[in-house]
Amino acid sequence: MSRDRVHCVDCREPIPGDARICPHCEAVQPSPLVDAGIVVAGVFAFVFGAILALMTIGTTRLAGFLLLVVGFGLAVGGYTRHVDRQAARRAR
Ligand SMILES: [Zn+2]
Repeated sequence: MSRDRVHCVDCREPIPGDARICPHCEAVQPSPLVDAGIVVAGVFAFVFGAILALMTIGTTRLAGFLLLVVGFGLAVGGYTRHVDRQAARRAR
């Protein structure tokens, strides 16, 4: 039952876990699922890119390297967003 332990990012009032907008101050709630999706997609792209870069040659290898870089950026970016939000939540 961790879904109903969600608090508004703005006014800290408890809100339903699936609420997209706070019923108290109407602040839009960020979805942790989006971050998780970005990280998962990034890791997949990273792994797939690594395989392409290691196993193939020529243009496909170049595409693999590109995928590797993009995947790494997505994974790190998504994780950083998540950490930033937690830090901001704690600071309040
Ligand atoms: Zn609120």
